[in-house]
Amino acid sequence: MQVVHSIADLRTRIKEYRRKHDQSVGFVPTMGYLHEGHVSLLRKARTQSGLVVLSIFVNPLQFGPGEDFERYPRNTEKDLQLAEAAGADLVFMPTVDEMYPTPIRTTVSVTGLTSRLCGASRPGHFDGVATVVSKLFHIVQPDQAFFGLKDAQQIAVIEQMVQDLNLDIEIVPCPTLREADGLAMSSRNVYLSEQERKQALVLSQSLEKVKEFIQSHPSFSSEELVQLVSSHISTAPLATIDYVEALGYPTLEPFEIGHHPASIIVALAVKFGKTRLIDNLIIQVRK
Ligand code: AMP
Repeated sequence: MQVVHSIADLRTRIKEYRRKHDQSVGFVPTMGYLHEGHVSLLRKARTQSGLVVLSIFVNPLQFGPGEDFERYPRNTEKDLQLAEAAGADLVFMPTVDEMYPTPIRTTVSVTGLTSRLCGASRPGHFDGVATVVSKLFHIVQPDQAFFGLKDAQQIAVIEQMVQDLNLDIEIVPCPTLREADGLAMSSRNVYLSEQERKQALVLSQSLEKVKEFIQSHPSFSSEELVQLVSSHISTAPLATIDYVEALGYPTLEPFEIGHHPASIIVALAVKFGKTRLIDNLIIQVRK
């Protein structure tokens, strides 16, 4: 496994690989502090791509004022061990100056899909995501890029960007990996106190409740689903709900009772102290 810090170096190595091999280049963009969720993306890439490129970059552009950019967890040594064990070939770890040497004057903005969920509660977040992912796509020029469904809105946004900008990249969505007790793996889980960690279980539990509810109710409203999730989360005294929404997926459009689309997402963001966690359930619904 090779580790590179400069864009020029990365480009040279990928070009060299392409010259020598007639195989695809797979790309896994991350912000580091890797866990099994990230590892699952790398493993998936390993099965589908000839060259597996991982990027580790905490992107300041996607953090709002007062968010956790400065204190975002970092552990390069452990990241590199996990990356190597999962089969990464090339790790790109640029500095902020390497990615943004001058103040950025060109950004990528995906409209519509970003007006709800995390787009509404973190203004500018998805412009930051779409811009950095588009820069990374231009640098790496992958054939496939692997993203986790834990960030389902991010996948919808990236797929739209790829379609709108005619990027020749296959977006591969990968399932959410969870801890044994159900909590979705996240680099931010490390912020949780012991009490918060225990209470954070209400998130995955509430989504399980929705799943059971949908399976036993042929007709339901989005309000019923939201109510079910919110009332269960409210049983945790340390939880503050940022949002709970039930929408069509990947359109992220609201739906009326009896007219739900074939695929729906129930998505939530909840704060425990300063730590904001997200989770979701995407479910295919019988008509
Ligand atoms: P991050 O480092 O949090 O920006 O995440 C990098 C990639 O890993 C994104 O595509 C995430 O959706 C994905 N990811 C994060 N957590 C998980 C998880 N628990 N299971 C699967 N993928 C994940």
